[in-house]
Amino acid sequence: MIKNFISELESGNKNALYLRNIIEHLILKGDLSISDIAKEMDMSVPTITKLIGRLIDEGYVLDYGKQETSGGRRPNVYGLNPEACYFVGVDIRHFSIHIALANFKGEVIKTKRNIPFVLENTPQCLDQLCFIISSFIDKVSIAKEKIKNVAINISGRVNSESGYSYSFFYFDEKPMAQTIEEKLGYTVSIENDSRAMAYGEYMCDTNGEKNLLFINVSWGLGIGMILNGQLYYGKSGFSGEFGHYPAADNEILCHCGKKGCLETEASGQAIYRMMKDKIENGSSTSVEEKFRQNIVTMDDIVHAILHDDVLSIESMEHVGFYLGKHLAGLINIFNPELVVIGGDLSVVGDYLVLPIRSAIRKYSLNLVNKDTIVRATKLGDDVGIMGACMLARSKMLKLI
Ligand SMILES: [Zn+2]
Repeated sequence: MIKNFISELESGNKNALYLRNIIEHLILKGDLSISDIAKEMDMSVPTITKLIGRLIDEGYVLDYGKQETSGGRRPNVYGLNPEACYFVGVDIRHFSIHIALANFKGEVIKTKRNIPFVLENTPQCLDQLCFIISSFIDKVSIAKEKIKNVAINISGRVNSESGYSYSFFYFDEKPMAQTIEEKLGYTVSIENDSRAMAYGEYMCDTNGEKNLLFINVSWGLGIGMILNGQLYYGKSGFSGEFGHYPAADNEILCHCGKKGCLETEASGQAIYRMMKDKIENGSSTSVEEKFRQNIVTMDDIVHAILHDDVLSIESMEHVGFYLGKHLAGLINIFNPELVVIGGDLSVVGDYLVLPIRSAIRKYSLNLVNKDTIVRATKLGDDVGIMGACMLARSKMLKLI
């Protein structure tokens, strides 16, 4: 590359911002002709021609030639150069890690799922995370300097701007992003996992909806919000702590230190507790032995649900209905176009989505909820890594 407009974005250089806006249009709309871009940006064709020329010189854009259509020949279209640079997305879950490598076009070209890992708040665990990421990068066959950002999703309180994670890996008062950056030698950004999932859903699986709530039902419970087409962060980046909404009058101590958080009744850990109580009171289930040996995982419970285990299904229904009741409140407040159910437990599909829908219908205002589609994510288990890769690119381009 001759020059690099990315380095000029920080200073607010006007031309660099125009170049970035062209890239943003190509991300959102796909390949476009110069006159399409000129129309989108309300600028002249000669100016766009010049700017596109610079993006081609810098290696970010390719001329994809004339597009043949039934209506005859059309002008040349321009699109992102997939090989311009690459991004690594890391999705830390409670019992495993997913990692993906995406190109500049946003296509995932390598994925490693379910890498064994148990999230614990220790320096050893942070070292293991870094080891897993560098082992993945070592095996990819691209020039390492082309990897521009490693984006990591983690649960809990995260300030993605300062790079601090307060719920995990808050050692020596140093930002988690900086610690990992020093260990890996790549630019690192971090994001709350539910917010990253919301971004993945928004960028990869929506039909232009600008207001969506993404519900991450995993071991814990969180939400990510896209409001008017923008990720909503709140003042310090702590928005979305729906799991700690003081919903229940149950005296159960939450890991945050408070009692009665929604997460204690509506999450993977709530299902675990309910099943454990029932087994101790004589109920039977196919995962009874694993409970007794204290080795049961979320995957075991999901597997049991998908294989007609009645106790697991009943516990899931209970959690779904309870969650749906509180989502009804959110729908009344936000009037979203889309509520997407994702996270580890969403892979059970209708076992979770139907009780949620039923409770939403029962408890939300009809006029408000008829605007809202409630569905499971179609990206399944990959929504977190997709979100991380999309965030990595957007952060490099300073779109976020
Ligand atoms: Zn809590």
